[in-house]
Amino acid sequence: NHQVRLAARPEGLPTPEVWEHTTEPVPEPADGRFVVRITHLSLDPAMRGWMNAGRSYVPPVGVGEVMRALGAGQVVASRHPDFPEGAYVTGIFGVQEYAESDGGGVTVVDPSVVPLPTYLAVLGMTGMTAYFGLLDVGALRDGETVVVSGAAGAVGSVVGQLAKLKGARVIGIAGGAEKCAWIVDELGFDAAIDYRTENVGKALRTHAPDGVDVYFDNVGGEILDAALARLRLGARVVICGAISTYNATERPAGPVNYMSLLVNRARMEGFVVFDYADRYADAAVELGGWLREGRLRSREDVVRGGVADFPDTLLRLFRGENTGKLILQIGE
Ligand code: NDP
Repeated sequence: NHQVRLAARPEGLPTPEVWEHTTEPVPEPADGRFVVRITHLSLDPAMRGWMNAGRSYVPPVGVGEVMRALGAGQVVASRHPDFPEGAYVTGIFGVQEYAESDGGGVTVVDPSVVPLPTYLAVLGMTGMTAYFGLLDVGALRDGETVVVSGAAGAVGSVVGQLAKLKGARVIGIAGGAEKCAWIVDELGFDAAIDYRTENVGKALRTHAPDGVDVYFDNVGGEILDAALARLRLGARVVICGAISTYNATERPAGPVNYMSLLVNRARMEGFVVFDYADRYADAAVELGGWLREGRLRSREDVVRGGVADFPDTLLRLFRGENTGKLILQIGE
């Protein structure tokens, strides 16, 4: 039983040195267990995250452990009534030829209905991700404009199609002319943006002139930032993944900690203080009370000058030269 184990935690792209290959005898099933010969391994960007130490939505793969992976295969030996010999199954079997299992998280599938690999794609985690991500988290409504990155990938291509099914206008962002042609010509996306040759921000302005209702993000980084700049009022940003950052050895430009939204199933949502105008007075009473009691301090950074100093004073904000509330005091 050939197995691939995590030998060391990678820095950047996982190089060959981070893996260790081992061989063990094919396992014999204990009572209540069965053995699967794995025929299909699912390759997922999330694997890169599983290789990192630290807290996430699942524990990391331990150094020395068989690498975690979803897979499909056939039961070749069984002492479990629900998973008889010959049954086809999917589950988290790891990167190895044979896996022993007690059936936890394992699903029996029927390859005469759809081919086995499809159970790892649209009918597997990929499809579930696209479905719940778009329809539940994204709360897609009829007639809306959807933008999806990684659009020619596993999840992204399903997202775009589901959105079309639901009557949305769909723009996909993908790398390369071929992928872009595929999602438009074959999958029925309304438009595609090749982020390798096009300016994504500009292209989004062209293809979504009225803005974006749902942005389904698989890549993070600069593409996320470009999409954020095109949000429509009440838009939903579905943080599904951030592949462009997974192998970064240096802190990527733009937000990085927003992956906490994924881990914490939080929502990216904005607000504008003006919307709270009818509650300003109440807030002021409360804040004033805390100031009076000394439980709250206000610091103003006052710059003296003239109106002509405004442009330069404003730049202090972007240079981080102010402490507290920056104020330009005009004249004496
Ligand atoms: P994909 O099939 O989309 O494969 C990855 C694709 O990402 C590549 O094909 C490539 O397409 C694109 N890509 C790679 N590097 C970059 C980069 N630097 N910038 C932009 N795009 C890049 O994988 P999946 O569909 O399985 O996963 C898509 C995303 O969904 C991932 O971020 C993954 O982590 C996430 N995910 C999240 C889940 C969740 O529960 N939140 C569950 C499953 C997946 P191209 O040629 O277009 O660049």
